[in-house]
Amino acid sequence: KLSINDFEIGRPLGKGKFGSVYLARTKTGHFHCAIKVLFKSQLISGGVEHQLEREIEIQSHLQHPNIIRLYNYFWDAKKIYLILEYAPGGEMYKQLTTQKRFTEAMAGKYMYEIADALSYCHRKNVIHRDIKPENLLIGAQGELKIGDFGWSVHAPSNKRQTMCGTMDYLPPEMVNGNSHSDAVDLWAIGVLCYEFLVGKPPFEHENQADTYSAIKAGRFTYPDFVKKGARDLIGKLLVVDPRRRCSLQEVKDHYWVTSMLDSCR
Ligand code: ADP
Ligand code: MG
Ligand code: MG
Repeated sequence: KLSINDFEIGRPLGKGKFGSVYLARTKTGHFHCAIKVLFKSQLISGGVEHQLEREIEIQSHLQHPNIIRLYNYFWDAKKIYLILEYAPGGEMYKQLTTQKRFTEAMAGKYMYEIADALSYCHRKNVIHRDIKPENLLIGAQGELKIGDFGWSVHAPSNKRQTMCGTMDYLPPEMVNGNSHSDAVDLWAIGVLCYEFLVGKPPFEHENQADTYSAIKAGRFTYPDFVKKGARDLIGKLLVVDPRRRCSLQEVKDHYWVTSMLDSCR
């Protein structure tokens, strides 16, 4: 059985609400990975044990080039350890902050990658529900990797109406308290595409009430520099009626996305 003694622990990679993540490598084989360490006591006092169980159950069954692998997990008396694929490019959020906004070529490539990863998830009835730059990492080839499945659900087994995630990415059907489907992820990648290109999310306002009403109305504006092709894609994702949002396949085939992929080659 695997234990923490099988690893050499390196520098801290980041901190979440309940866990700290460290670079590590196996003592035999020197295989690099990221170890997420969670304190049982904090999980219990935060009431998130079941959420972690779900995160482990879901992420350990996902194998896709744009999703962080969960290789293994184990625990001791006080802590739970998740052995994750290491993403050497770090956080998408940090990249976006330092670059302010991405080029169309970068944004388009990332949109293809996230649409491909999410269509894989949705085929397995997994809804992510918390897509935002903070939960995306960057791989060795500069590719996007979905990295945090803490809010994800396996759709057939969950019909609860929970409020989760930061407000900026909430779709109108969740603001209104309606039950949600995998279309929440489509809304979220519409917000993401806008934020990639503009540097801030489309419904950002001084106060919560204004953000809510803008989301419910699907009301937002573009700065002049956002070009027609990107506007067309974002406009097909940020549709208030969840049934009328374009599909992930349509995102992958969208003329702006495919033209940006061509410009990357
Ligand atoms: P939480 O679920 O508590 O939000 P995360 O899984 O998002 O925790 O991890 C916290 C931070 O640790 C991330 O924002 C990121 O900076 C870093 N991190 C997490 N996983 C990895 C990984 N596989 N490779 C590199 N850095 C990571
Ligand atoms: Mg996180
Ligand atoms: Mg999490």
